[in-house]
Amino acid sequence: MTSTIAYDFEKELDLVLERCNAAVRETAVPTRETLPDGFTGTLGHFPVYFPEEIAHAAGLLPVNLLGGGNRLEMKHADARMGSFVCSICRSTTELGLNGSLEGMAGFITHPICDAAKHLAGIWARNLPDQVSQILYLPQNVNTPGAVRYIAAEYQRLRGVLEAKTGRTVSDDALRASIRAYNTNRDLLRQLYRLRSEEPWKVSCTEAYLLLRARTRMPCEEHTALLGRALDAIHHRAVPAQDKPRVVFVGGFCEQPPLEMLEAIDESCYVVDDDLLVGLRWLTADVPEAGDPIWALAESYVERSAASPVQHDARKSKEDYLVQMLREARADGAILTAAKFCEPGLDDQLAWSKHLDEIGIPYLVLEFEEKMTSFEQMAMQVETFAESLLFALA
Ligand code: SF4
Repeated sequence: MTSTIAYDFEKELDLVLERCNAAVRETAVPTRETLPDGFTGTLGHFPVYFPEEIAHAAGLLPVNLLGGGNRLEMKHADARMGSFVCSICRSTTELGLNGSLEGMAGFITHPICDAAKHLAGIWARNLPDQVSQILYLPQNVNTPGAVRYIAAEYQRLRGVLEAKTGRTVSDDALRASIRAYNTNRDLLRQLYRLRSEEPWKVSCTEAYLLLRARTRMPCEEHTALLGRALDAIHHRAVPAQDKPRVVFVGGFCEQPPLEMLEAIDESCYVVDDDLLVGLRWLTADVPEAGDPIWALAESYVERSAASPVQHDARKSKEDYLVQMLREARADGAILTAAKFCEPGLDDQLAWSKHLDEIGIPYLVLEFEEKMTSFEQMAMQVETFAESLLFALA
């Protein structure tokens, strides 16, 4: 009887992961015919953080555009940007130019770095049917006017989407979207907590697939899948192995290939990470009463995560990494950066210098979404894991 129950939970988790995997591997956006119920179109947005609630309330399915992975053939984008630009910028542009994102209502990017900022101009010139905008999130959130400024920027976005869809985005619709996303973020927090407490029950790759699936499906469908997955993971009967606990940082924008995460899982328990941190940016519920735009803006400033692309004096790059390490009871850190990613490489340097000073072991890795060879990286991770275990013995 016990084994039948265990088998059923394992099968349930497999089914959920299969659906997530299929969603994650999808590069094209849904067409009018294949859009989920309740949506009239799609809105693409670039990492790191985007207030998806505003698109959701406008009836547009938010799609987080994360480049083309390691299977996309580049034919057009290289003619529009320099070879020193990071891969996610080039491959996202390629998807726009090769027709994979045809029919999107628009594309919103952010001034997180020079490369991302210039995407909006390239998009506007090459895909004139789509709205192409920069959402100007503030460089400095520590000024008294930051919340007012963000609220004005969100109102501007609301107006742009109303004009594009011909539909009013009411406060009530926004509150309903905030409620849906609060539920979703709460489950994501549960997933991360569970992995930190019992990392042998859910690998980094599995947790990542469960998280990333939200970039390609309605928040409500994702919430239902997460609920099923959490239930199954809780019931999973997997013995703990002798692996060190590590945190993984550097995955806030361009995404490492799945094979890289699998290679890390082989030797380490990843007990916290910043992968797709924009989906988990708001760290507590957004208030569901009052002015919804103000509530979203205030949450961005007061209840939010940290990343190399946001400058907040309350969250120094060194401090938030050390806090992650302490809270996750990690034995060491894997400090990654995407190739050509200026903010990521800057922080990688600052992190490694600080960890040297305070004596916390770390491994530095560089990745690119289009990498295809992982043997050497797997050996580096294995050696790092053995050194951590040796130090713990
Ligand atoms: S990966 Fe780095 S350089 Fe590229 S868009 Fe993202 S933040 Fe900018």
